[in-house]
Amino acid sequence: MESTLESVELSVVVPFHNEESNIDHLFERLFSVLNRLNLTYEIICVDDGSQDNTLQYLITHHQRNPAIKVVSLSRNFGKEVALTAGIDHSQGKAVIPIDADLQDPPELIEELINKWREGYDIVYAKRHLRLDDSWLKRLTAKAFYYTIGKLSHVDIPANVGDFRLLDRRVVQALKQMPERTRFMKGVFAWVGFKQCSILYDRQPRYQGQTKWNYWKLWNFALDGIISFSNIPLKIWTYVGFSLAVFAFLYATFLIIFTLIVGIIVPGYMSLIVVVLFLGGVQLIGLGIIGEYLGRVHEEVKQRPLYLIQDHHGFTKVLKSKSIRTSIPMR
Ligand code: UDP
Ligand code: MG
Repeated sequence: MESTLESVELSVVVPFHNEESNIDHLFERLFSVLNRLNLTYEIICVDDGSQDNTLQYLITHHQRNPAIKVVSLSRNFGKEVALTAGIDHSQGKAVIPIDADLQDPPELIEELINKWREGYDIVYAKRHLRLDDSWLKRLTAKAFYYTIGKLSHVDIPANVGDFRLLDRRVVQALKQMPERTRFMKGVFAWVGFKQCSILYDRQPRYQGQTKWNYWKLWNFALDGIISFSNIPLKIWTYVGFSLAVFAFLYATFLIIFTLIVGIIVPGYMSLIVVVLFLGGVQLIGLGIIGEYLGRVHEEVKQRPLYLIQDHHGFTKVLKSKSIRTSIPMR
């Protein structure tokens, strides 16, 4: 069934950044699943500043099938923001974000919907096996989930990506979270509601290259930890306190030593070690404060999260009422 405006039951949201080689195959598989499900649906495609023909292909598909709706952003804003733009434009009672490269098998949508109909508000698709990933990526992923699990109060589920089902209630809750550092894994965990997960094997990419590299992943991990934990900021009080206690003990020792043995002039080694060590510790502390401060700066600027270049297939265009909503350019 195609979407009718009055009531869309399911919105599938897909972010696209240079994915022209995946589009046809993606729609083919999506439609074969969606048409089986016997519900009204829309597919919201967000073009995240692609430089190839992704946008033209999407518009062609939209002209053939009005259930495909296209939002194009004014430049590349990154996957998390593209997803937010798509979710903001969705109308479905349930929303499913899915990657364009077919790493998340569309066939799972049926299982996600079944769980939703049982009454769950968030249904995670949890990765069973990471077929595509190197041992280094698996190891770093494990270290990341371990660290964030220890540092944060929010229980962030391991090995889930953005492929999941969200009930409208959850989407409504997300819209009330104005933060710019959008670590979605954490945000979804933070909102709560009734959650469950299903297991799946994540597939290798169908075509094209991943846009991630280790530097981006490292920054993504930092974003995650810093948005959901203040421990890196607070730890410096304790480091400073311990060093002060140590310095006091050492000073006591030196005073007693000087009283008993007398003044010994050579002290270059111990001095330089202490100076360098303290300098290093202070710089680390400053750096961490800087990481938080940089994010505070991002937040206080209050810029819109994304800008829309064009819409295709939306009769009702979003107004720019809150700081997070889009500003239509035309
Ligand atoms: N993506 C995007 N903007 C970006 C980078 C990626 O919209 O700046 C989309 C991309 O087209 C794909 C999804 O996000 O649909 C996942 O990207 P990718 O496959 O590169 O990430 P990975 O699967 O390696 O995590
Ligand atoms: Mg991928």
